[in-house]
Amino acid sequence: MPAPNFDVIVSLAKRRGFVFPSSEIYGGMAGFWDYGPLGVELKNNIKAAWWRHMVTLRDDVVGIDAAIIMNPRVWEASGHVAGFSDPMVDCRNCKLRFREDDLKGPPSEIACPSCGTRGSLTEARQFNLMFATHVGPVAEDASVAYLRPETAQAMFVQFDNVATSMRRKLPFGIAQIGRSFRNEITPGNFIFRLREFEQMEMEFFVHPRDEDEWFTRWVDERHRWWTDVLGIGAERLRLRPHDPDELSHYSRQTTDIEYQFPIGWSELEGIADRTDFDLRAHAAASGKRLEIFDDASGEHLVPFVIEPAMGVDRAVLTVLVDGYAEEQLATEKRVVLRIRPSLAPVKAAVLPLLRNRPELVERARRLTADLKPLVSAQYDDTASIGKLYRRQDEIGTPFCVTVDVESLDDGAATIRERDSMTQERVSMDLVPQRIADLVAGRTAWEGVPREAPAP
Ligand SMILES: [Zn+2]
Repeated sequence: MPAPNFDVIVSLAKRRGFVFPSSEIYGGMAGFWDYGPLGVELKNNIKAAWWRHMVTLRDDVVGIDAAIIMNPRVWEASGHVAGFSDPMVDCRNCKLRFREDDLKGPPSEIACPSCGTRGSLTEARQFNLMFATHVGPVAEDASVAYLRPETAQAMFVQFDNVATSMRRKLPFGIAQIGRSFRNEITPGNFIFRLREFEQMEMEFFVHPRDEDEWFTRWVDERHRWWTDVLGIGAERLRLRPHDPDELSHYSRQTTDIEYQFPIGWSELEGIADRTDFDLRAHAAASGKRLEIFDDASGEHLVPFVIEPAMGVDRAVLTVLVDGYAEEQLATEKRVVLRIRPSLAPVKAAVLPLLRNRPELVERARRLTADLKPLVSAQYDDTASIGKLYRRQDEIGTPFCVTVDVESLDDGAATIRERDSMTQERVSMDLVPQRIADLVAGRTAWEGVPREAPAP
């Protein structure tokens, strides 16, 4: 089935508590969204999957968590104060602002794309994408600071502290997950382009002679993470090397990992060869030596940097879009989110078949309590069993456990798997460990087709 349109995903996300418009009761705010109860779980699971793969399981990468506001000299040295900007055009009539790149001709000749007035567009002016604020009690020029537009610079300015305190040799990496801010002129497409967003970036420091080898390795490694860890369909992913004329000023080579969204192929992650640009810029501006001792050559050198950088919010969007499916069953349609069990906000939902039987409800609640220390579990008796299944399918819950009248006699419950809708009858004592093993992939599902128990 083709990828669903964003409005389908936006609607599901709001209806089921994944993502809400920010400050919605006041009309929202363009470029800002809030994660709801299920969204924060999904997002945390994606971040945990990245951290585990990039830091925990590796010997050569360590993590940091830096402040969002840094000394403004960081952004002067990095080039963001002078160069992180887009040429913008204002309409004198309707006051709207447009990127010059988006206009279909020179401002002096064309009509305003919004109000249609001719001759109303100003000359292009550079508009810096960083949010500025003031630190301290007085708002004066000397107190200007910026909300970071990327997490990467913290890894460069803390390079020496990390390398020294952790006794690192090349090659090694520093990873970080955190919020970044860009005053995008045209935010949009739901959580694809945000003004406040979250990044997962890793700066991998290598000997300059190993630059190409590590660039290729990280492109492969990151592509494999999207397919094998996040479970995104390989047929909707592609690698796109940048043309020389679209490379950032700091980059010698960059490859994007793109996903085929309904809006077209769009960037999920960039793997950039940043050379020694950043370390040299900060060394020059700070007067500090940002070098590392190389055992092989017996000399200090400035390493090159390979950087895999991605947005968490785009990963959330990709998981929702890629997992979304509509299926026609015998008597009804179901929407199912086919996402990895490891990513699902709820791993197991416990459903009593009859909510007016206190002993059933009590047994189902006890089973939920037994599940919770092992996996994220939820008790629900607010609708008929059919409706409860549909609701859990739609939020991607991989396993539903039904406690029925028979359970009171035989001590067993029915586990139903989301994708196949097949079932297993398992002793309730064993259900928590069984589901924990299934979610972790330690054991395979062997359910059999079976009618849902009649209420
Ligand atoms: Zn206008």
